[in-house]
Amino acid sequence: MVTLRNGETAIRSGSVVVYTKTGPCPGILTVTNHALVLLVTGAPPPQGDGWGDPSGSANNEYRIGLQRVRQAVGGSGPSGPVLQVNLLVRVLHIQVDDIPGWAAAVNAARANAPPPSPNAGGGGPIRGGGAPRQPRCSYCGRLSPAGSIKCISCGAPF
Ligand SMILES: [Zn+2]
Repeated sequence: MVTLRNGETAIRSGSVVVYTKTGPCPGILTVTNHALVLLVTGAPPPQGDGWGDPSGSANNEYRIGLQRVRQAVGGSGPSGPVLQVNLLVRVLHIQVDDIPGWAAAVNAARANAPPPSPNAGGGGPIRGGGAPRQPRCSYCGRLSPAGSIKCISCGAPF
């Protein structure tokens, strides 16, 4: 069993083979509400393959925070279909027994993960980093400044 942190719970765990640039790397993959945690049973994954340095009390445990995960999908690896995990800057290929099930578990964990930095962005109601959205009144059709709770033109609530 992997070392779970405060508030961390395991969602799915099972035997996998991670394909790395130096060859297959067998281990136990655990999807938690914080991270993908790989407990390797053989050689460690090579540096530069996304897993970084070992973490936790065990020296064979590697974790990738869900903030670094974009999406999990079905893909193809060197020996057939694999779970493909798209990270921010690289792609993981993992052989699992149930690709759709694992993909769903990773994507659900990713969707429910805490934001990377709770203080980023000032905590306002505007999210996504784009231009603030101006609400359009459904009664008079006028735009009001972003963040308005009612139409500045006719007073209708948004
Ligand atoms: Zn209005």
